[in-house]
Amino acid sequence: MQDSLPKVGFISLGCPKALVDSERILTQLRAEGYEVVPSYQDANLVVVNTCGFIDDAVAESLDTIGEALAENGKVIVTGCLGAKGDIVKQTHPNVLAVTGPHATEEVMQAIHTHLPKPHDPFTDLVPSGGVKLTPRHYAYLKISEGCNHHCRFCIIPDLRGGLVSRPVGEVMTEAENLVQVGVKELLVVSQDTSAYGVDVKYKPDFWKGRPLNTRMLDLATALGDLGAWVRLHYVYPYPHVDDVIPLMAAGKILPYLDIPLQHASPSILKSMKRPANTENTLKRIAQWRSICPDITLRSTFIVGFPGETEDDFEQLLDFLDDAQLDRVGCFAYSPVDGATANALPNQIDEDVKQQRLEIFMQKQATISASKLQQRVGQSLQVMVDGISEDGHALARSKAEAPEVDGWVIIKNQPQLVSGEFASVKIMDADEHDLWAELV
Ligand code: SF4
Repeated sequence: MQDSLPKVGFISLGCPKALVDSERILTQLRAEGYEVVPSYQDANLVVVNTCGFIDDAVAESLDTIGEALAENGKVIVTGCLGAKGDIVKQTHPNVLAVTGPHATEEVMQAIHTHLPKPHDPFTDLVPSGGVKLTPRHYAYLKISEGCNHHCRFCIIPDLRGGLVSRPVGEVMTEAENLVQVGVKELLVVSQDTSAYGVDVKYKPDFWKGRPLNTRMLDLATALGDLGAWVRLHYVYPYPHVDDVIPLMAAGKILPYLDIPLQHASPSILKSMKRPANTENTLKRIAQWRSICPDITLRSTFIVGFPGETEDDFEQLLDFLDDAQLDRVGCFAYSPVDGATANALPNQIDEDVKQQRLEIFMQKQATISASKLQQRVGQSLQVMVDGISEDGHALARSKAEAPEVDGWVIIKNQPQLVSGEFASVKIMDADEHDLWAELV
């Protein structure tokens, strides 16, 4: 019986938003009775979910498609690269079909055409939380697609279109299913989480008879009642974000905000077409900390954007000093095919960009190290993600998001189980990680 099932190979590239698309397609495949197999040789066809954000990602996606064609021969392409003109078909004319991102139905149609589904769907094979690509104990919860902004360095609105918010009742049902199958941490993702519901004018909806508006505050409040850790990512610092901070202070959702600020100089932010104002951002951060003193703030920045003067860069460094963010990522600006920033005058020399990146990272490393040092001596609850090769447990507290932040490393505890909570005391800290002992 098993051998008669049609078999699909699946390769998932790209960001958490693409990962959620992959999970939806995999869930649908399992619902329809397809078997998902891990090798090219065993598969009747292969689906490649691509990334098209920066040039390296485009090259990786095209290489992966080429490898799948060479090894298997029957390939369907989906994801961001599929929305980027004809590049896939031009490079690999033999692919069976190409779709853009969040196109589960189109992908399934293409699969049905080239590999018909079994007569009886094996719906009982599907876990109610869907098929997850993340470890069992945490899951990304995508609340919307697309973005209404037009940041000059970004082509996501061209690739994914304008903001489309999922109905809040549907998001809550998915979140509840995930928690019921053992997910202990929900990571809310989108392109712009604070804009959730703007496109549908915060439309009222119901979840289990409870009225909810399609709005970040209503969603965060309802998620906070599920008993899982709830972490908000990609939150722009609009005034209404202040309303979710009391939920953090009350322990309903995690005291953690991922706010992609990108720069601090007003003229660069204007040139980037970013929806933010530095002075207000600093005031807002101070206000958040006064309501929820243990809030962890994470952000990302770009240095070397066209037109960035020494003075702009200094303003950015001053902002880091003032804001004292806990976790920071930084990139040297690199032109993305199709982005309007490419046409801006005063592009910055590569060596200047790299120099600024280094100075920025050094400054932030000092800030991060001192912030982590302040946590030495704290007793914390952590969630174990796995065990390192040398037998240390790799865990995270409320202050660390998976994949982007550092670890709480519990020394010599290989018996700890992934997905379980542990109580620890922080004994030491470096620039990225904390070292802990069980208590
Ligand atoms: S907010 Fe700006 S950077 Fe983020 S997805 Fe939208 S356009 Fe791109």
